[in-house]
Amino acid sequence: MPIKVLPAEVAAKIAAGEVVERPASVVKELVENAIDAGATDIKVEIRQGGIRLMRVMDNGCGIPGDEVELAFARHSTSKLESAADLERVSTLGFRGEALASIAAVAQVTLVSRTAQEPVGTQVKLENGAIVAREGKGCPQGTIVTVENLFYNIPARRKFLRSEVTEASHISELVSRYALAYPELRFSLVTDGRLAFQSTGSGKLYDVLVKVYGLETAQQMLVVESDGGEPRSEGGPTRIKVHGYVSSPSLHRSNRQYLTFFVNRRWVQDRSLSFAVTEAYHTLLPTGRYPVVVLNVDLDLAEVDVNVHPTKREVRFRRGNEVFAAVQKAVRRALTESAPFPTVASHLQPAGSLPVWGQPRWLTGVGGERRPLGQLAMEVQRTGEGGLATVVTPQMQPRLPMLRVLGQLGQTYIIAEGPGGMYLIDQHAAHERVLYERFTAERAHRAVASQQLLSPLPLELMPRQRVAMAEYLETLTELGFEIEPFGGETYLLRAVPAVLKGSDVGQAVTEILDELAEEGSGETRAEKALISVVCHSAVRAGQILSMEEMRDLARQLEETSLPHTCPHGRPTMIHLSAEQLAREFGRR
Ligand code: ADP
Ligand code: MG
Repeated sequence: MPIKVLPAEVAAKIAAGEVVERPASVVKELVENAIDAGATDIKVEIRQGGIRLMRVMDNGCGIPGDEVELAFARHSTSKLESAADLERVSTLGFRGEALASIAAVAQVTLVSRTAQEPVGTQVKLENGAIVAREGKGCPQGTIVTVENLFYNIPARRKFLRSEVTEASHISELVSRYALAYPELRFSLVTDGRLAFQSTGSGKLYDVLVKVYGLETAQQMLVVESDGGEPRSEGGPTRIKVHGYVSSPSLHRSNRQYLTFFVNRRWVQDRSLSFAVTEAYHTLLPTGRYPVVVLNVDLDLAEVDVNVHPTKREVRFRRGNEVFAAVQKAVRRALTESAPFPTVASHLQPAGSLPVWGQPRWLTGVGGERRPLGQLAMEVQRTGEGGLATVVTPQMQPRLPMLRVLGQLGQTYIIAEGPGGMYLIDQHAAHERVLYERFTAERAHRAVASQQLLSPLPLELMPRQRVAMAEYLETLTELGFEIEPFGGETYLLRAVPAVLKGSDVGQAVTEILDELAEEGSGETRAEKALISVVCHSAVRAGQILSMEEMRDLARQLEETSLPHTCPHGRPTMIHLSAEQLAREFGRR
């Protein structure tokens, strides 16, 4: 075949393919445009996973009527003037190809009005060309509606995943931008239902609560580092790192929960992930990852954002310094607020992290030495197929009889056994006990339920309502009696008997928050069960009598997996007699 220039329409579709991979890419570009336009309120609406429709409404500066057409031309942008500007990109967009790309692969309607114009402009596009244009009354700002994505590229359309999957990508994307811009109010309406809304309060913590739930947010530590004095020659570079990272007690099974922004641009960067994982070194069980939301701020000239059409990758001029700054900032947050001063910490060389995952100190309760994380994970993994009662024999040394000596920090039970000293995490241990009891009750369809004296009205947040709709049946099986009471309110009539004694209203809303989180592979029933158990268990900080502690130790001895809580965290640390002797120089 001879070489020839492709028809413009074909070229446009090829180019569009690089920007628009899936519905979430469209939402990303439109949300970025809204942010660049100075909007304070950004509403995203999708239908059928965005495949049928995506709409982004903003109250930004708007596009002047006589520029609307240009906005859809390829390589047309109001954000760059010269190639030199590419060295210091301060806006999210700059390539001038998003609107053109979207219009090449979907049916687009744009309505926009600037503050100076009395009426707005509406245009409709098909195959990248404007097919209708009219004046239109509308509030200041821009509304872009994108319908029937890939209607003209059947091959691409086939590659789309289910509506649910595409919707979840969009929802994740909106949450991430909400995290990057806490001062903006984002909302997401999925098939007519409000699925997410941030307050726009300007506080990152508030968005964290909305995205990950209160329980998770409460376990996050502040990272705040201004990077100190500029360090390197050849230009002022001050690397600021701020955001939140989870305390070591909170971890997840995948890297999904690592979110990074560079100058508030959401990026995927392996060196940043690596810097964080390094900072957590030895603090987390193997194969587990923290929850992280971090913003790295640095001089615009220090970062090249023009690496990929989707602008998801960046290149740092001084990658090593960025790496070091992030690692240091996270590590400092972890050290300064280490919530668990550990038995081992004062025995370690000064300057090292007080950690409680140091393999050196942890001995499998059966006697074999191995990192505790590993031990916990093996037990956990064997349990994943069904409920966590299937166990490989060598992982199941029975717990010896323990003699309770006292309580430490209102959090740990100190006990002695034939093999040395045991520190038991009272919350984790109680979780394990309740979990197994509850599982057995469920298997016998004999879950004990407790009627409330008077029904308790619960006002639920949107994401809690979504979780409620999804989990109502499961919760009923677990002993809850909950009924819709109109609008945002539900009536709580009964709770599982194990929950009694706690603030049940609070517990239920927190449980819903947890259920609303993306799961890490458990079944619905399992997830709900773990959550209920977690809220029923004795808390850290609760003073226990000797009697209560003895009971708990006894009950823990009875469980089939005494060494980990249902989340896979250790319930106890063992210091063997031999280790003690060695530390005291008796050997
Ligand atoms: P880029 O964002 O890279 O400039 P786009 O194709 O996304 O390219 O948008 C082209 C231009 O259209 C932008 O530079 C901006 O001037 C204008 N524009 C797009 N969306 C909006 C919006 N929501 N509000 C105001 N102006 C917009
Ligand atoms: Mg753009």
